[in-house]
Amino acid sequence: MALLQQAEAEFAPDIVFACSFGAEDVVMLDLISRSARAITIVTLDTGRLPQQTYDVMDACRTRYGLPVEVYCPDAAEVEAMVREHGMNLFRDSVEKRKRCCEIRKIHPLRRALAGRKAWVTGVRREQADSRQQMAAIEDDVAFGIKKFNPLIEWSQADIWAYIRENDVPYNALHDEHYPSIGCAPCTRAIAVGEDPRAGRWWWEQEEGVAECGLHASPIKRKS
Ligand code: SF4
Repeated sequence: MALLQQAEAEFAPDIVFACSFGAEDVVMLDLISRSARAITIVTLDTGRLPQQTYDVMDACRTRYGLPVEVYCPDAAEVEAMVREHGMNLFRDSVEKRKRCCEIRKIHPLRRALAGRKAWVTGVRREQADSRQQMAAIEDDVAFGIKKFNPLIEWSQADIWAYIRENDVPYNALHDEHYPSIGCAPCTRAIAVGEDPRAGRWWWEQEEGVAECGLHASPIKRKS
């Protein structure tokens, strides 16, 4: 893919792909394995991921032979958080849920991006209203580096056609009606016709705002 090759040529070795091993991200991994192998693969292990995510992570390691740098939360931060608020604080309030995401996701992502000049994501425009204005190449204000979104124009159908045509390993939860997969306690299957992100933090009733925090803008569910 030309954009990936451009990103690699311009920024390697200071460029990473932050891979969640969801459908978009395994497509991106396959594309990187074909044409941009100098891009470093990083992933965040929040400590609360479903087993199926670890399974596809290992399947991709075997398939592509690319090293995957795994970033975990700071143990002392997690210990202090659960000591004060319990293991399932994310159910107590939006504030506590965001605190959990900050410690288990944002802080490890900051470490993964530290010293880098650019990162690659599998974000697609049609995933959320807040992503309508996103471009294929952006300045990531939150992290102060360049951000490449090579799949920005892809549809969900494009993603699945690519996975099928190229026999790309994917998370088994997608076959159980999980279009968007995060931590196990914060992800559920959705019903036919529901918004693809309705399975994330579904107990929050804040005007449909489902903020993951990994990308600069909050994710607003499409109505
Ligand atoms: S998705 Fe849930 S378990 Fe995972 S970091 Fe966020 S609040 Fe914590």
